[in-house]
Amino acid sequence: MTATRRQMLTLLAAWSLASCGAGPVPAQDAQALPADLRPQPNAAFDAWVSGFRGRAASRGISPATLEAGLADAGYLPGVVRRDASQIQTRRTFEDYLSIATSDARLAKGRAAMRGHGDTVAAIEGRFGVSRHVVAAIWGVESEFGDKRGRIPVVSATATLAFDGRRGAFWEDQLLAALRILQAGETTPDKLRGSWAGAMGHTQFIPTSYLAFAVDFDSDGRRDIWGDDPGDALASTASYLARNGWRGGLAWGEEAVAGTIAGRTIRPQAGGPRFTVTRNFDVLKHYNNSDFYAAAVGHLADRLAGGGPLRGDFPPDANGLTRADRIAVQRTLAARGFDVGTIDGVIGPLTEAAIRDFETAQGLEVTGQANRALLARLR
Ligand code: CA
Repeated sequence: MTATRRQMLTLLAAWSLASCGAGPVPAQDAQALPADLRPQPNAAFDAWVSGFRGRAASRGISPATLEAGLADAGYLPGVVRRDASQIQTRRTFEDYLSIATSDARLAKGRAAMRGHGDTVAAIEGRFGVSRHVVAAIWGVESEFGDKRGRIPVVSATATLAFDGRRGAFWEDQLLAALRILQAGETTPDKLRGSWAGAMGHTQFIPTSYLAFAVDFDSDGRRDIWGDDPGDALASTASYLARNGWRGGLAWGEEAVAGTIAGRTIRPQAGGPRFTVTRNFDVLKHYNNSDFYAAAVGHLADRLAGGGPLRGDFPPDANGLTRADRIAVQRTLAARGFDVGTIDGVIGPLTEAAIRDFETAQGLEVTGQANRALLARLR
C-alpha cells in the first residue's frame, strides 16, 4: 500500500508544486469545475462501469454503496489529459524549494500553526511526530488546506481505471473510495480530491486513507476533507509514525551546520548539501522524492523559526541565478508585464511576459529568460 502511494507520488511530485500558481478555489465549489472535469457521456466508459460493478460486488461493495457512489460518477476527460501531461513538468530543486517555501507560503503556514496550535501540539504529543513536520506536509500538499482538491474521487479514479494506464492500481483506488463511502466516513458529494484521487488537507489516496487515517476528534468519522484539519493532520502523523518516524530526531539539516550525524545528499548538482537521518527516509514513504523530503524538512525548519539555506545554487541552464531571474521578473513587472508571483521561478506566466516584451521590442520571440534578456531589460 505504501509502495503504491510512493510510486504514484513520485510522478506527482513535480506536478503538485507546479500547480501552485493557480489561484485557490473553495473545495466545495463544484460549479467552478472546468468543463473537462465534469462527467461527459462515454459509452465505452459506461460499459466498463457495468463490468466493474460485478467485480466490486464480489469484493464486498454493497448494492446500496454502488448505487450511491456511482450515481453521479462519470468519465472525466480532463483527468486523462492531466495524467498524460504530468510527466513533462520538471523543475530544479531550487525552483521546487522556492515554491514550497515562498514568503507567501511561510506566512500562511505561520498563521495556520497559530490558528491550530492546540491541535498540532496534541497531535505531536500523541504520535511523537514534530508539529512542524506535520504542518510542512500540510503546506506542501494543499497550501495549508487551501487546495484540498474538488474533483469527485469516484469519477477520477474510475476514469483512470477505465483509461487503462496502470488500470489495476486505479481500480484498487476506486474500490477503496467506495469502501470509504460504505463505512460512512463521508458522502459522495464530499469525497473529492485532486485529479489523481489525492484527498483532503494532506492528500491521502484512498488506499492510504483506509490504512492510516485516524479519527482524531473522536466524532466517529475520519474527516480529512472538511475545513477542520485535525483528522487529516493526525492521519499524516499516524502515517509517519507507522512508517518508523523516530520522535525527537531531526529529519536532517543543511550540511554546513554539522550538528547531526547522518548521510549526505545533494538534491541538485552544485547546490546545497544536506545531512539526513532515518526520518528523512520516513518522509520519502509519503512521497519517494529527495526534492519532496528535503523541501518538507526545510519548510518545517522555517516554520520552526529557522532561516533560509546558506548554500548557493549554481546558475540555471540559461546562465541565470535566482537573483537574476528575480531581476528579470521585477523589471518586466515594472514595465507593466504580468509575470505572476515574483519568486525567481520562470513559469508559464513569466515566459508569456517575456514573449510579450520581445514582441513589443521587435525581437525574436523566444520566451526564454537568459543573460541577453536581462541585459536588455536593465
Ligand atoms: Ca473525526
